[in-house]
Amino acid sequence: MSGIEQIMAARWLAQNGTNKHILEGMIPLSEKNVKEFYRSAPKSAHRYGTHWLRCEGAYMADRAYRLFIQLFGNSALSKPLSVIEFSLYCQTYLTKFPSDDMSSNRLHYLIQSIRNGDAVVKDTCSCCGLPFVVHRDESIEKVCNICRVFSEKQQ
Ligand SMILES: [Zn+2]
Repeated sequence: MSGIEQIMAARWLAQNGTNKHILEGMIPLSEKNVKEFYRSAPKSAHRYGTHWLRCEGAYMADRAYRLFIQLFGNSALSKPLSVIEFSLYCQTYLTKFPSDDMSSNRLHYLIQSIRNGDAVVKDTCSCCGLPFVVHRDESIEKVCNICRVFSEKQQ
């Protein structure tokens, strides 16, 4: 592993509960680094799954996807993120929305599920006009999760 920025990014991700195999997929870690990075790491949250996209917290997927394309553009979906990009993505999300039930693992798996088709990106919400993410079984949905939560609160 080379580059101080990469090391800092990998260390931050480890110490914020990122699964070891996710991190190892982005950057080859030496035994020594793995041990050091994970010494004070919290238990990792969230496994692979898309059930949450059908629950109350689904608006977080819209936030996550919009932030992703804001940072990296649409085309970033088709190529892997570097460890530096991924840590920037996670840090930005967690800073913007500190009370969401979100983790680096969940962000990683969300992007993975969009890539493999378990989750579907809809280009335009009929209410706010922004792109959003749905579970593949709900791909006929026309209104984003954020607008839906908002209109429920208005009633
Ligand atoms: Zn909307």
